[in-house]
Amino acid sequence: MKNLFKLFAMFIVFSSVAFAQEDEGEETEIKEITIIHAGTLLAVAGNDPVQEKSIIIEDGKIKSVKDGYIDNDGTEDAEFTIIDMSDKFVMAGMMDMHVHLASGSGNSADYAIKGVINSYKTLMAGFTTVRDLGASDDTIFKLRKAINDGDVIGPRIYAAGNIIGVGGRTNGKECNGIESCRKTTRDMIRGGADWIKIYSSCSGSQLCSNEDGSPMFFDDEITAITEVAKKYNIKVAAHSHPRDSALQVLKYGVKSIEHGSFINEDAMDTMIADDVYYVPTVSVMDMLEEVVEKGEVSEEMLIHDQSFLDNNPPKIFEAYKRGVKIATGTDAGVVPHGKNYREVERFVELGIPNSDALKMTTVNAADLLDKSDEIGTIEVGKKADIIAIDGNPLETIEDIRNVVFVMKEGTVYKD
Ligand SMILES: [Zn+2]
Repeated sequence: MKNLFKLFAMFIVFSSVAFAQEDEGEETEIKEITIIHAGTLLAVAGNDPVQEKSIIIEDGKIKSVKDGYIDNDGTEDAEFTIIDMSDKFVMAGMMDMHVHLASGSGNSADYAIKGVINSYKTLMAGFTTVRDLGASDDTIFKLRKAINDGDVIGPRIYAAGNIIGVGGRTNGKECNGIESCRKTTRDMIRGGADWIKIYSSCSGSQLCSNEDGSPMFFDDEITAITEVAKKYNIKVAAHSHPRDSALQVLKYGVKSIEHGSFINEDAMDTMIADDVYYVPTVSVMDMLEEVVEKGEVSEEMLIHDQSFLDNNPPKIFEAYKRGVKIATGTDAGVVPHGKNYREVERFVELGIPNSDALKMTTVNAADLLDKSDEIGTIEVGKKADIIAIDGNPLETIEDIRNVVFVMKEGTVYKD
């Protein structure tokens, strides 16, 4: 008993020493502050760039932006890390609003491996945030968590999970009649979906995906999906190629039209009035051009693909001139991952000015996600998602291929 008391007394002594050390540690807590010296800074895409600025970063967020190159911002008890980007073009991390990181052929194990590889490629290309619009199972939600936890290197993910369709599509979640549409939508949201993705027309690789193609859902089915999503404050993205499927879904409050290959002026005007985004996935034209050039598909398919090539690019430029809000989305998964810059390049090829194309992959994407208060620009209080580029994409858009530095939420992933 006496020995036991002795042990207890020793424990008390040891633990009070530990506390004292901890207390001492707290008194001299060192703040870690990173300062990026930005030669050219495009703080807000769409505005003019500025020269020779210091971006001060603490706790993953932008603390301040100061004139000239400073080595400390006057904070006491702080350790400063200086990152010299004085000969670089610095801007906010880019965003891709239409990717499929963890899907395709195979099973869950394949999706997981592909997901890890594709996430890495995407972040290294300077894309710090993505919206994943369609996966084959729940792997994408687990990938999202692994990235958030810091176990996997990749962009911040907003994920839809499985696409909701009318059935028959592999791994698609079914919506057939009001009850099943409600149930499936609730299931997806409970399972972790940040967005709901619906298949309101057939796939672009099918002949039924033409200008006069029929919408897939009945009105009450679309209503069921959008009403459930609204209850949970979740937004709906609608895959749509034919003219009428866009017109249909726009009646029920979707937030974005994906592809929108044959949207007409009525659809565009509704999108402007209702603040609906257009994510035209024009990068897919890279693939279609290759298909048509090789000519290894049926005559019918060649005509089909050619109609997309002839129609879509001018349609996107028309929507831009009309004032439809556009965000970049490549459909990576259909086209290669890590080449997400192609969408921005394609926009410029259409005639959209470089500064607006860069806005579509930063400011507009944040707005589409309803995260403008957190990401999309280099401003005080925003998450420190910052990239540096060799060259000047405001002059030569292809320079966005030369991403030499990537920071996501204050952590450097590429330097
Ligand atoms: Zn897609």
